[in-house]
Amino acid sequence: MRAYGHFIGGQPVAGTSGRTAPVWQPMTGEQVATVALATTAEVRAAVENAKAAQRDWAAVNPQRRARVLMKFLDLCNTRADALSELLAREHGKTLPDARGDLQRGLEVIEFAIGAPQMLKGEFTSDAGPAIDLYSMRQPLGVVAGISPFNFPAMIPLWMCGPAIASGNAFVMKPSERDPGVPLMFAELWMEAGLPAGIFNVVNGDKEAVDAVLDDPDIKAVSFVGSTPIAQYVYARATANGKRAQCFGGAKNHMIVMPDADMDKAVDALIGAGYGSAGERCMAISVAVPVGAGTAERLLDKLVPRVESLKVGPSTDASADFGPVVTAAHMEKVKGYVDLGVAEGAKLLVDGRGFTMQGYENGFYVGGCLFDHVTPEMRIYKEEIFGPVLSIVRRDTYEDALEIVNAHEYGNGTAIFTQDGDAARDFAARVEVGMVGINVPIPVPLSYYTFGGWKRSSFGDLNQHGADGFRFWTKTKTVTSRWGSGIRSGAEFSIPTMK
Ligand code: NAD
Repeated sequence: MRAYGHFIGGQPVAGTSGRTAPVWQPMTGEQVATVALATTAEVRAAVENAKAAQRDWAAVNPQRRARVLMKFLDLCNTRADALSELLAREHGKTLPDARGDLQRGLEVIEFAIGAPQMLKGEFTSDAGPAIDLYSMRQPLGVVAGISPFNFPAMIPLWMCGPAIASGNAFVMKPSERDPGVPLMFAELWMEAGLPAGIFNVVNGDKEAVDAVLDDPDIKAVSFVGSTPIAQYVYARATANGKRAQCFGGAKNHMIVMPDADMDKAVDALIGAGYGSAGERCMAISVAVPVGAGTAERLLDKLVPRVESLKVGPSTDASADFGPVVTAAHMEKVKGYVDLGVAEGAKLLVDGRGFTMQGYENGFYVGGCLFDHVTPEMRIYKEEIFGPVLSIVRRDTYEDALEIVNAHEYGNGTAIFTQDGDAARDFAARVEVGMVGINVPIPVPLSYYTFGGWKRSSFGDLNQHGADGFRFWTKTKTVTSRWGSGIRSGAEFSIPTMK
């Protein structure tokens, strides 16, 4: 069985803590590896290596740094099959979906190759008598990323690409549930010519995370995961004086207006609700049909589609979705379906009993669909993170908007309509960070920023886009005057432009 350790100072190193966690292959339910759980001392070793390497990396000009990213991009594309297979094996998503996970991450590497442009400062000549004023963006030093299980390629790449391109050294703490791909990235960074110590991986659990949050040499932390942990990481990192951006959970609503094209709305709900077994922070987990008869028209088409979803092992490229990540998560998802029934929601499609022939020990849950869900129910309030879609009926557009705005999460949302007025109004008034208009999973492209509102995000700056570079750099502003411009005599009043 494979034993994953860490990657520190340019090489793989075995764990020394004696503590490990199992890594499963969800499609068969077998354990395929162990992963070492780092101690505080092992995190410290990564930080020391990073610190020793960072100053020289920051001194490399941005264009040369960008060339290392180009080479890394090229290597990842060449090894895309191996990366996607490893990802699908440890996560459980299907191979085409795993390929998409990698691709969306690489698109941020493509964007980060534009670092020379993104890192340019501002300049004003003659801002005052013989005074030139300019600003520059400088790296923070050693920085860290802590990622969730559900996008083991995309999210580490979103974090490390702009950070490394900006001249920082990076310590990655991936999810302990699927650590294989970030370790493979470490090898590829080395092959691409990144100096040793600039990209490190420490595997671990709370002990490693706390060590990152308390280490005085780590200047910034980017976290993605569940809301309680995001809030904890934000509080502890910022209390220790670090810059932090922490992205949390979600409950994404899709409003279906009476004038929507029902076939297209159903296609959208099927993909966004059940793709990746619902284990996406941008999955649609609530559909809100608006007005008399809309729910019936929607359900007439939706129910047979949910009943005929094809669940399969990750290796079956024709499957709609694969297993969920662990046996514990499978039980949690089924437990939420039990709860929904107990709370009085109407279970129209029940996937709890699904078993995959030939893969009886895999972590499978079939597609589930609830109707008559109300905002008071826990299955509505809480994130299930599984293939479970809830229908919450609303009489009017205003009622529908109100429940979206009242929900504690505000990651993504969508409206399906043919009415431009309604769509414009929704985009303007909805209290959610990412909005789709006839687009069910509105994940912005790499040159825009990604981030939710309310309890889906803690901190100010989003991921990738311009915010990616802002988060990983600090601004310095220089006011300069030379030679004959320098005045004689002391000035005691504050200089102004009067
Ligand atoms: P998680 O919160 O369990 O784990 C995320 C990271 O935190 C992992 O690296 C884990 O090792 C660490 N961690 C877990 N428990 C900890 C503790 N007690 N103390 C310190 N660190 C701890 O999340 P997950 O189950 O891996 O991922 C799924 C969650 O991530 C969902 O809630 C999903 O919505 C969210 N997510 C959000 C976004 C976003 O951009 N908003 C994107 C992807 C996933």
